[in-house]
Amino acid sequence: MDRSANAPSPIPFWLAGRPATGDAELAVTNSHDGRVVGVYSVPTAEQVEQAVAAADAVRKQAAALPIHVRAEALGHVARRLAERAEEIAQLISGENGKPVFWARGEVNRAISTFRFAAEETRRFSGAVQRLDTEPAAQGRLAYISRVPHGPVLAITPFNFPLNLVAHKVAPAIAVGAPVIVKPAPATPLSALVLGEILAETNLPEGMFSVLPVPNDRAGALVEDPRLPVVSFTGSGPVGYALMDQVPRKHVTLELGGNGAAVVLADADLDWAAARVALFSNYQAGQSCISVQRVIVEESVRERFTEKLLAAVDALVTGDPSDEKTQVGPLVSVAAAERVEQWVKEAVEAGARVLAGGTRDGAAVAPTVLADVPADAKLACEEVFGPVMIIQPVASVDEAFAAVNDSKYGLQAGVFTRDLDIAFRANRELEVGGVIIGDVPSFRADQMPYGGVKQSGVGREGLLSAMNDFTYEKVMVLTGL
Ligand code: NAD
Repeated sequence: MDRSANAPSPIPFWLAGRPATGDAELAVTNSHDGRVVGVYSVPTAEQVEQAVAAADAVRKQAAALPIHVRAEALGHVARRLAERAEEIAQLISGENGKPVFWARGEVNRAISTFRFAAEETRRFSGAVQRLDTEPAAQGRLAYISRVPHGPVLAITPFNFPLNLVAHKVAPAIAVGAPVIVKPAPATPLSALVLGEILAETNLPEGMFSVLPVPNDRAGALVEDPRLPVVSFTGSGPVGYALMDQVPRKHVTLELGGNGAAVVLADADLDWAAARVALFSNYQAGQSCISVQRVIVEESVRERFTEKLLAAVDALVTGDPSDEKTQVGPLVSVAAAERVEQWVKEAVEAGARVLAGGTRDGAAVAPTVLADVPADAKLACEEVFGPVMIIQPVASVDEAFAAVNDSKYGLQAGVFTRDLDIAFRANRELEVGGVIIGDVPSFRADQMPYGGVKQSGVGREGLLSAMNDFTYEKVMVLTGL
């Protein structure tokens, strides 16, 4: 981009733990008002190579880092995020367009993510197994440790630009693996602040880099054999293409979904309506576990829909920097136009708009549709916008079949007070997480999190990611 002689310097990136600038600059703009939130420097191909070489060089030292050093570094990051929480929340809101209320929540979650990692690394001690259960192994003992595969390449999406970076950086440090972060080009600023905080720790040089490279320069990172782990969060097409590109690497994919909330006849309808309204629309629907499909038992459909529409109507939309805003714009005008188009297609195919359906710049009004044909994109793809469709069903059987009638399987929510149905949901629903009594959008950062079907491969959540980033190594002691 063109810059005048007295323009402020671009925000540096982090190359092997040190600030650096490259050969180009990119601007981050706010989708609500178009203001430039920050201009960041883009690494050159040579600098990308330097970061990979540094990660490779420190690999063995990183794996041997004492646990107290890892825990101290992770704890430091949690403390500094807490100290700088408001500044970082404003930055996330600026770069992503997310209401500042939700941005504060994201910072709090990132703090927890680093705290949990500090705790998990202290417990990550391996195991001892007696082998004398068989005569042939008498006098033998196995010591089982977990060894990092090696440096982790963390590729992250725009929608949680801090906490989804934290979900890869924290477990990598916790297991003693160097990590290179490639943040989303639209929202790299909070990841760059995280780099600044990581640089204050006593981690060895090369242990982390934050490289905001555009997608067309990311191939060098993906294909480099010195980065054996690719931990990707983002859309299915990109994720599966990466997996095809490097089939021999250890690739984990956290992908999309078209989350279902099931509202059964025995549910607390006020609670269900409030939660569905909010979590179809929080982050303007740009969450992989947003409520998109509302599957409701016919006997309560009318009463529930009335309450739902009232709750949707009460949502405060508008400027994401306003303290009261609950629903802000999407990440870009183009993203909002796509959502608008999908709504239009559904309506042309016979759907009825019960609320919203309109767009203003990057903002789409909270939208509720009924009678959406099963083959409409709104019913079978991931909308990633503030849109939900209501699907009436006659029974629990039909409800669970409707949830499973999806190529995705991330999480599902089931509003019921019946414990038998809860366990049945857990047995029958083809998803990575079943949330009883709430929306699919519930996530606690320490719990295993990930999908089945086309929603992903592998799990996040601190301990799960730590297991994914390592392999079990057995040492057998003889003569005991
Ligand atoms: P995206 O797939 O467009 O981008 C994700 C990341 O991949 C970005 O950093 C992007 O720059 C990078 N990328 C794109 N092309 C690349 C290439 N050729 N080589 C290397 N890197 C490349 O996704 P997005 O639009 O940023 O995020 C939205 C998607 O993420 C949605 O589908 C959402 O469901 C999913 N998501 C999933 C989870 C989860 O945990 N399952 C969480 C959040 C978001």
